[in-house]
Amino acid sequence: MSKVAIVTGAARGIGLATTDLFLEMGWRVAMVDRDAAELDATATPRDGALGFVCDVSDPEAVAELATQISAKMGRVDALVNNAGVAEFGPIEECDFTTWRRVMATNLDGVFLMSQALTPALKETHGAIVNIGSISGLRASTLRVAYGTTKAAVIHLTKQQAAELGEYGIRSNCVCPGPVRTKLSIAVHSPAIIAAYHDAIPLNRYGSEREIAEAICFLCSEKASYISGQILAADGGFESTGVGLPALRS
Ligand code: NDP
Repeated sequence: MSKVAIVTGAARGIGLATTDLFLEMGWRVAMVDRDAAELDATATPRDGALGFVCDVSDPEAVAELATQISAKMGRVDALVNNAGVAEFGPIEECDFTTWRRVMATNLDGVFLMSQALTPALKETHGAIVNIGSISGLRASTLRVAYGTTKAAVIHLTKQQAAELGEYGIRSNCVCPGPVRTKLSIAVHSPAIIAAYHDAIPLNRYGSEREIAEAICFLCSEKASYISGQILAADGGFESTGVGLPALRS
């Protein structure tokens, strides 16, 4: 029976590109998203993919989803916790509702999905890949909620690697640099886009596919001895710090 990946936030963006790469690799994919209309439009034409509408921040819905996926897909070899939301704003203006909304999807969702799918992943000695962000590796302005969730996801990955390794489950984290998706278009102003170009050695945004390549590698047998690692797919951003824009000009 072909392998199965669960990809959350799969209706668009990085999750959709990851779905397509898994399908090219011959895997089947459980595409999970809360946007039912977009999920239907993207899952239906894809052979080997099945759409599951679910809000990953809802514990009951996630428990029900785990049962449904096991029944319909038969096995789970990889879980990609990719669903995420971004809200940018000054620290003093981040009200508690906003804080909780970002935590609920970006952090609670990763915890809930991973816990619910651990029994299935034990059976296959499967892999978890959590999607962090360069905003979780380096602090910046406007990202008090978003950056804090992503830093927590990086640590949660290490907790998972430490605790689930004895079951043969690997857990790793991919930290993307900027990619033009619905999420980033909403929060990246022209000034932010220009600043990113300056700060990234490769001098450009990444593509959804470039992030998917890192994710699928970490889910594959090629990464069978890699666990607890944080891989920045970021055009070199994380490696730099001192005076890059000034040196360029
Ligand atoms: P997109 O907005 O393009 O896609 C995310 C999808 O996840 C959307 O369909 C969204 O639905 C869905 N989603 C959001 N919350 C939930 C939820 N609670 N339950 C189920 N589905 C949900 O985002 P990207 O592809 O850009 O982002 C994917 C991941 O990559 C995120 O974790 C993000 O933080 C991370 N990332 C992205 C970067 C970028 O520059 N794009 C940079 C660094 C990290 P809806 O539209 O309704 O919100």
